[in-house]
Amino acid sequence: MHQGSCHCGAVRLTLPSTPETATDCNCSLCRRIGGPWVYFPFGTVDIQGHPEQTEGYVQGDRTLCTYRCRHCGVTTHWEPISPVAEAAGKHGVNLGNFDPALIASVRVRRLDGADTWKFLDD
Ligand SMILES: [Zn+2]
Repeated sequence: MHQGSCHCGAVRLTLPSTPETATDCNCSLCRRIGGPWVYFPFGTVDIQGHPEQTEGYVQGDRTLCTYRCRHCGVTTHWEPISPVAEAAGKHGVNLGNFDPALIASVRVRRLDGADTWKFLDD
């Protein structure tokens, strides 16, 4: 069971399983937030303090909402908005909120989300 939290601890996340890969995306939002991102079926990530302690941000094609802690400002996760988009049915979690040993154990793949939506290591 992997548990993580934002910097101040107001938002706490528990992953349903151990991720093997994560995504480092270069799109206009992700390159600012950092990450890397790991993905799970929507509803399988336990998130305490959400939505009470979080604020959302919707951008671009409005397919997902990215959430941050309203106290420390750290981005914690995203949720799908559009049921037909790429993001539908998935939860994105910012792995930066977890144990450094877990982050180090995961293979990070670089995604060209800014342009081609292809992994650069394919
Ligand atoms: Zn916080």
